[in-house]
Amino acid sequence: MKRGNKLYSILKLKCPRCQIGDLFCSPGLFVYKDILKMPDKCPHCEQDFKLEPGFYTAALWISYPIVLLIFIPLLLLGFSLDSMHYFFKFMYPFIILFSFMLQVPLMRIARAILLNMNIDYQAK
Ligand SMILES: [Zn+2]
Repeated sequence: MKRGNKLYSILKLKCPRCQIGDLFCSPGLFVYKDILKMPDKCPHCEQDFKLEPGFYTAALWISYPIVLLIFIPLLLLGFSLDSMHYFFKFMYPFIILFSFMLQVPLMRIARAILLNMNIDYQAK
């Protein structure tokens, strides 16, 4: 994936303007410390990450449909476990645990999507 693409910025959690600076103080999708801690500005291009007070509240509305897309099929799978193969009955708790582990990357990706909706890439 090349720089200049919004998907690059979202999946790599990079600044939407320069796509070099990291969006979060501790980079990476699966992080369990300082999950939502972000610098005030991009360390590379000085793009402001706090566009307005309460800006990231809107990220909840971005992660909500993504969470629904994951959990509704899991719920339906849970209701139909009796008619399924033993393998799914055995795997179901692990699938649920894995889906809860996805919460951290989802929150981070939702913030990256929100920033990318408001800031465009600028090549220098
Ligand atoms: Zn930047």
